[in-house]
Amino acid sequence: MSDPRPVVCVDLNGVLDSYTGWKHEKHWDPPRPGAGEFLRDLHDRGFRVVVFTTRWADDAQAWLAQHGLDRWVSEVTDKKPAAHVFVDDRAVCFRGDFGETLKEIQRFRAHWEK
Ligand SMILES: [Mg+2]
Repeated sequence: MSDPRPVVCVDLNGVLDSYTGWKHEKHWDPPRPGAGEFLRDLHDRGFRVVVFTTRWADDAQAWLAQHGLDRWVSEVTDKKPAAHVFVDDRAVCFRGDFGETLKEIQRFRAHWEK
């Protein structure tokens, strides 16, 4: 039976963690304060939470479990799922205007790069 809940895809590095930039594949930063409450609130509001990452899925799953965040997460993936919303520190939201999007891309900086 398929899960009817709308999917919210949440990025790991730069969203759920206190990202300090890429170092190497064994390096993991601790969770960002409030990350657990955020995942719980999404879950409690009826969303299916999928963690969306470029990291190895098994490593990401272990990090979530180590910090007690896995209980709110239905799936970890590095593929693009059919989602209602994506939460990402490197996203530009396309609102139908290529010109505005180009400007946003040119001035873009992740919050942790500022
Ligand atoms: Mg990220």
